[in-house]
Amino acid sequence: MKHGADILIVEDSATDIQILAELLSGLGSISFAMTGCDALAKLRDSQFDVILLDVMLPDMTGFDVCRKIAADLKPGESSVIFVTALHDAQSEEHGLLLGAMDYITKPFSPPAVRARVRNHLILSRTTRDLRRAHERLQQLAALDYLTGTFNRGHFEMLVNRELERAERSGLTGALLLIDLDHFKRINDTHGHAAGDQVLISVADAWLRELRSCDILGRVGGEEFAVFLPETGGTEAASIAVRLLQRTRDLPIVWEGRQTLRVTASIGGAWPVDCALDLKTLMKAADRLLYRAKQAGRDRIEIEGANKEQSIC
Ligand code: GH3
Ligand code: MG
Ligand code: MG
Ligand code: MG
Repeated sequence: MKHGADILIVEDSATDIQILAELLSGLGSISFAMTGCDALAKLRDSQFDVILLDVMLPDMTGFDVCRKIAADLKPGESSVIFVTALHDAQSEEHGLLLGAMDYITKPFSPPAVRARVRNHLILSRTTRDLRRAHERLQQLAALDYLTGTFNRGHFEMLVNRELERAERSGLTGALLLIDLDHFKRINDTHGHAAGDQVLISVADAWLRELRSCDILGRVGGEEFAVFLPETGGTEAASIAVRLLQRTRDLPIVWEGRQTLRVTASIGGAWPVDCALDLKTLMKAADRLLYRAKQAGRDRIEIEGANKEQSIC
C-alpha cells in the first residue's frame, strides 16, 4: 500500500468514529465529519481517496451527501463506502446506484472493513495513476517532441474544428506558414544539435508572442503554421510582423558562447467572401511563402484567398 492515502469518516456517533479510526490506522491519514454539511465542506477543501459514509446523519442523509459527491467528482477520484445500520436490500441498492463502491452494514466485522477499505484505496490510487498516464499520453500524442508545439496531425484537427466553428459564427481566422530562412546553413555550420536548439528557441519565442487561442504547429522540419482564430487580414499581418521581428531579435545562445541568429519568412492567407478548408488555405499560404522566399526572405506575403485558390 502506498503512503499518503486520505480517508474521510462521515459519522455522527463519536464511538463509531473512534472504532473506525482505530481499525483503519496505518492505512492513511484519517479525517472525520459529524454532519453532512461538514463532510461537504471538507470535500470542497481536500481530496479523499476513500469516504466512509453513514446514512443517518443529523442534517441530511448520507444518500444526499453521496449524490452531491458523485455530481462533483471525476470517475475514480474517490470511493464512497456506506457504513450504516440500514441493512435492508432496498437501501443497499439505493446507495450503490448513487455511485457508492461498497455498502457495509453495522454491526460490522472490523478485519473485513479494514480489508475492504484497503482494496478500495488500491483501486482508487490505480485509477488516478491511470488517468494521469492517459492525460500524459494524450499530450504526447498531440505535441511535437522537440518544440512542444502541436504536431501536424493535432494542428490539423484543431484548425479544422476552428474552421467549422467559423463557418457557423461567420468569424473566420487567418493562417500563417512560417519557414526558417537558410536553416540548412545553421545545421551545416554549427551541427544538427544547434539547429534543434534554434527550432526550440524560435517556437518558444513565438508561443510567448501569440495569444492562448492561437494554434501553433510544427508542420515540417523547419516549417511551422499558426492559425489565428477570429482574426482578419490586417490584424494577421501585424501579428506576422511581430513574429518576424521577434525572430530577428532573438539571441539563441549555443554551447554557452555563440549567439546564433535566424530569420524567417511568412506566407499568410485568410478566406475572402467564403469559407475555406484547411487544405485550400495551406495551399494559398504556401504559394505566398514561396513568393516571400523569392523576394529575398525575412519578409511577409499575406493576402486574402478565395475558393478557386486564387489569391484575391
Ligand atoms: P530556405 O530559406 O529556402 O527555407 O532554406 P532552408 O535551408 O531553410 O531550407 P531547406 O529546405 O533547404 O533545408 C531545410 C533544412 O532543415 C534541411 C533539414 O536537414 C533541416 N531540418 C529539418 N528538420 C530538422 C530538425 O528537426 N532538426 C534540425 N536540426 N534540422 C532539421
Ligand atoms: Mg448515524
Ligand atoms: Mg527554410
Ligand atoms: Mg522548409
